[in-house]
Amino acid sequence: MITKPKGTYDLLGSDSVIYDYALDAFKGMCELNNYNYMKTPTFEASELFHRGVGETTDIIKKETYDFLDKKGRSMTLRPEGTAGVVRSLIENKLYANVSGYLKYYYYGPMFRYERPQSGRFREFNQFGVEVFGPMNPYIDAEVINLGVKYFQVLGIDNIKIKINNLSSKQDREKYKVALVEYMSKHKDELCEDCLERLEKNPLRILDCKVDGDKDFFKSAPKISEFISPESKEYFDTLLSTLDSIEIEYEIDENLVRGLDYYDYAVFEFVTEDKNLTGASTICAGGRYNDLVKTLGGPELNGIGFALGYERLQEILKSLDLTKQSKDLDVYVIPVTNNEVSDALIIGTMLKDAGYKTEIDYRDVSLKNKYSQANKMNTAYIVTIGEEELKNYTVKLKDAKTSEEKTIGINNLVEELDMSF
Ligand code: ATP
Ligand code: MG
Repeated sequence: MITKPKGTYDLLGSDSVIYDYALDAFKGMCELNNYNYMKTPTFEASELFHRGVGETTDIIKKETYDFLDKKGRSMTLRPEGTAGVVRSLIENKLYANVSGYLKYYYYGPMFRYERPQSGRFREFNQFGVEVFGPMNPYIDAEVINLGVKYFQVLGIDNIKIKINNLSSKQDREKYKVALVEYMSKHKDELCEDCLERLEKNPLRILDCKVDGDKDFFKSAPKISEFISPESKEYFDTLLSTLDSIEIEYEIDENLVRGLDYYDYAVFEFVTEDKNLTGASTICAGGRYNDLVKTLGGPELNGIGFALGYERLQEILKSLDLTKQSKDLDVYVIPVTNNEVSDALIIGTMLKDAGYKTEIDYRDVSLKNKYSQANKMNTAYIVTIGEEELKNYTVKLKDAKTSEEKTIGINNLVEELDMSF
């Protein structure tokens, strides 16, 4: 038997309903905020990710799927969405003749060669947004707000926002010097990975899962001691704007993020949901002022986030999405063969009204028909018997609560419209 590659999965049955539900809500939220959809290829020239994501990141060092095409060109399956969006922005000159902000959203599969575990796959799906234009704390607040509102419409409320100010490159350079000096004094206490980070990417030491709880770590210099007055003013405005729209957050000075291109605001949405047994960060993002220029474009700042669908799915599965996760809206049951033609007419009426409907035409017992309705995971059951037809009515049963009522055929669609 040929099996699926390690770290991948098939989206089946009710899970695919959850995917549609989550994606539709995401599209709706982005459209509401006036963001435009952008679709970019799932593979790009390897150089894009090397320059965009950064040579020293875990993603580029260990996690990319690279291949040579038949002409010997090095290609990479995209490990994230931002680099492709920026490449497209530059290649198509989307910024030309635009005076306002450019706002995009995307969704689709990403590929990283990681050790598969709960909430971590080799092919996974991200939903993301990117905004381009001059740096402005109000834009940052808008982007964070979009994420917050998205989780709200999904009914997910146990999410914490962690935020930090990574400031400008110049401020970070000063901070790096101080951090390296401090950490070098504690070399014998650093884990192997951190020793390497000390050389290549010292800020990443801050989010080390191994060393993070040790005492020397807690007394390390903090980035807030190195930020310029302009940077402080920008970040304070962002925080007070979040306050004004009642978004709660926690400042986490150890939050640095895994990608090289971030500066100024970086943030993560972390869930405390117990259904998520593995990694708890479901959404992450930040500002990247220099990325467009680094990839050969004009002086244009950006900010965005990406959320991991698979981690979201774990949470959504535990919520009561009964109506969304039903395979069928209505199952129509004629009590005997005498009502079959009426069942067809009523079933057709329900389909015309937009309800996914299955009609049971089989010559079997009523019990058998009910058990089939259950197997088909329907939200409602409509039963049509001789008595009902005489009065031009049907029985409508809510499959979840088992509540049943008699409804006039002319009122059936209206009744369902109110129930769904
Ligand atoms: P982590 O620290 O969990 O590895 P990351 O910093 O690599 O995350 P980003 O590159 O910022 O994550 O991606 C944004 C989001 O995409 C993450 O918060 C997570 O929800 C999701 N994500 C990242 N890698 C994977 C993966 N291998 N499988 C499933 N989801 C993932
Ligand atoms: Mg990662």
